[in-house]
Amino acid sequence: MQILVVGAGVVGLAVAYTAARAGHHVTVAEATGGVGNGVSSRNSEVVHAGIYYPTGSLRARHSTHGRRMLYEFCAAHGVTCNKCGKLIVATGDAELAKVEALLAQGRKNGVEGLEMIGGNAARALEAELSCIGALSSPESGIVDSHGYMLALWGGLQDRGGMIAFETPVERMAFKDAQWHVRFGGRDAGAAAFDAVVNSAGLGAQALARGIEGYPADRIPRLVLAKGNYFGFAGGPVFSRLIYPTPVDGGLGVHVTIDLAGRMRFGPDVEWVEHESYTVDPRRADSFYERIRTYWPGLPAGSLLPDYCGIRPKLTGPGEPAADFMIAGPAVHGLPRLVCLFGIESPGLTSSLSLAEEVVGYLA
Ligand SMILES: Cc1cc2nc3c(=O)[nH]c(=O)nc-3n(C[C@H](O)[C@H](O)[C@H](O)COP(=O)(O)OP(=O)(O)OC[C@H]3O[C@@H](n4cnc5c(N)ncnc54)[C@H](O)[C@@H]3O)c2cc1C
Repeated sequence: MQILVVGAGVVGLAVAYTAARAGHHVTVAEATGGVGNGVSSRNSEVVHAGIYYPTGSLRARHSTHGRRMLYEFCAAHGVTCNKCGKLIVATGDAELAKVEALLAQGRKNGVEGLEMIGGNAARALEAELSCIGALSSPESGIVDSHGYMLALWGGLQDRGGMIAFETPVERMAFKDAQWHVRFGGRDAGAAAFDAVVNSAGLGAQALARGIEGYPADRIPRLVLAKGNYFGFAGGPVFSRLIYPTPVDGGLGVHVTIDLAGRMRFGPDVEWVEHESYTVDPRRADSFYERIRTYWPGLPAGSLLPDYCGIRPKLTGPGEPAADFMIAGPAVHGLPRLVCLFGIESPGLTSSLSLAEEVVGYLA
């Protein structure tokens, strides 16, 4: 089939790569001038083990399976990753109960190697840590997400696929057994495809509204939850990912390390109405407060505003977290069309597994 994938983020690229490997002719249309310019370059680059999500949910299934696929892909394609492990820490009795519940959830999800360790054992691993217990997750890690996206792009090109940059998809309609697609941008025009995948991230709902005959009541609302990061002006103190217990809308302000060993903190949760990518330095106060619950030694004046990302959520503050939404023909009634909505965390980890399911829908 001639397949159009809309969006060259990590999920669109994984879908394009997987479809090309399955023998399809694949074109990716990307509104900006490069790969990974959306949500995919504004995240923690963490390979999630698959602990937090309700068993049987798409997020649980695709993060555990996707994580294994991602590590294998990295090994086979020379993409840098580091299975550095992660500690989810409890700083009081109420948190200990939450962390123990996460252990049970993670085990139910089939996550390997999880174990509870005491405060002393945690400090033996990470001397600066203050906690009464922690859940140790040896399968968690970090990945060079840009290296990963470049490898997917290379794999797509090797199989004859291509990316059309500065090519926003505006409208499409299914006629005479084909999708007729209108593009704007540099080379505005039209083309026909057998199948289309909408993996436009924050633009997925807007694109669905441009699809003739797509039932409006099947387009979920888009809720924007900004996540701000602060960099640490100092040498690394931790060698593992350190997470507090999760908060409403996110996993809590955690310590991530990049592949060069530098530490940063975030993301927090800031519900916003519009996309904006500035980090308000005043948010540092709440970061100091939260980080010092598990790292009392955080020096004053050491946090510097860094970058931020926006989670494309389907539910808002106080509401239960929504699952990923993979809308195929059974949802919208249109043939050979899959729309991906609400692909927030752990979308990077899940990308290859999500891609497998999406390509399966197109067959
Ligand atoms: C703060 C934050 C932290 C996160 N941390 C992690 C983490 O540690 N681990 C993890 O696994 N996941 C994490 N995630 C989630 C992960 O980053 C996303 O799930 C993933 O990047 C989504 O990729 P995507 O391809 O769906 O979207 P995007 O990367 O946003 O790609 C969509 C692309 O579509 C393009 N586009 C939009 N509309 C159109 C159109 N009409 N025509 C053509 N192109 C269009 C956009 O320009 C964009 O390039 C995090 C997310 C956030 C926000």
